[in-house]
Amino acid sequence: MTARKIIMLVLDGISDRPCAILGGRTPLQVAKKPILDKLAEEGICGIMDTIGPGVRPGSDTSHLSLLGYDPQVYYTGRGPLEAEGCGIHMESGMIGFRCNYATLGQNGTIIDRRAGRIHDTQALSMAIEEGVDLSPMNIELKFASGVGHRAALALRGKGLGANVTSNDPKEEGVVPQLVHPLSSKTTDKKTAAACNEFIQQAQHILNDHPVNERRVREGLLPANTVLLRGAGEMGHFESFQERYGLTGGVIAAATLVVGIGKVVGLRHIPVSGATGSVATNLKGKIDAAIHEIERNDFILLNIKGADEASHDGNAVEKKEFIERIDTFLNPLTELEDCLLVLCSDHTTPCSIKDHSADPVPVVIHGPDVRTDFVLKFDENSCASGGLHRIRGSSLMPILLDLINKTHKYGA
Ligand code: ZN
Ligand code: ZN
Repeated sequence: MTARKIIMLVLDGISDRPCAILGGRTPLQVAKKPILDKLAEEGICGIMDTIGPGVRPGSDTSHLSLLGYDPQVYYTGRGPLEAEGCGIHMESGMIGFRCNYATLGQNGTIIDRRAGRIHDTQALSMAIEEGVDLSPMNIELKFASGVGHRAALALRGKGLGANVTSNDPKEEGVVPQLVHPLSSKTTDKKTAAACNEFIQQAQHILNDHPVNERRVREGLLPANTVLLRGAGEMGHFESFQERYGLTGGVIAAATLVVGIGKVVGLRHIPVSGATGSVATNLKGKIDAAIHEIERNDFILLNIKGADEASHDGNAVEKKEFIERIDTFLNPLTELEDCLLVLCSDHTTPCSIKDHSADPVPVVIHGPDVRTDFVLKFDENSCASGGLHRIRGSSLMPILLDLINKTHKYGA
């Protein structure tokens, strides 16, 4: 039997380098994970440079690559993808930014770049979207809340560029910067001017907003300004359906991954309790994937928690999270008619608390897949598997071939 469907399970930042606290082994090598190991044993294994050898991937560029969209062609900055992930429909040519709500003190310096870790900012974001008026500059704007203190801004209008700075000084106790154009082009100057006008007007709206008045009464920091960064112009993405003939969905807590899925035409499948942390609703996400694959051809399922633990440098927490993921995976091993791909978007070594270019382990499991002699899902074991060392850009072609969706090259 040949599979017809694909679930791509991206265990974000799951792979690592040897960790001293784990006796020189990686969290994947130490963790007890019978289901992940069973999948490796029954499937074909390898290691993968998600973008290319020696290229240190962001989660955005690597996910684009895994989905078969060359980031060199398609990546125009994080802003447009975050905006899409926050629910703003980005059209080609719109300028997107990722934003933080932040707190300014009496003297105009930043007291907190995250506004006291505010969440539930929908009322503030709606007030900004409705109240800020850039029409004298012939610009329309969209503004939407993300997770926690995060949000996104999108600008639409003629003659806008994306080559502008951030107003975020990246430290507290200083005055936010003005947004500056990074070229002498009128398009970049116009965007920078629009951003500065936006920030001014947003601050007026936020200062008088009942949510902030209440926060001050309760001794909480008000969200009285917005920091913008990651400017980018939305490009044109051929949809998954056009490119591969596959319908699909994306399940992820991170707005960035949701945004990437949506720009390539994958439907966002929300799951309550999906937080992107080690406390996320794993059962809910896996149940949703199993439910949705019945009426879709492809599901991208991202589980973020291991990356968070790695950015904190916590190898023990990472190992424990891997063990927790494993306890929920069994239903995925029983799907008929479906390939399950286990992989990661990049390595996040706890020793450097950031992404590295080390290749990630990859397993393809399902009907009709040739197997190899690998018995465990970890960095070293998978390196001796039958897939050998591949690039992320090869993953979709290999999967499409396994579900019989490729065309013969030649006669
Ligand atoms: Zn990632
Ligand atoms: Zn990360």
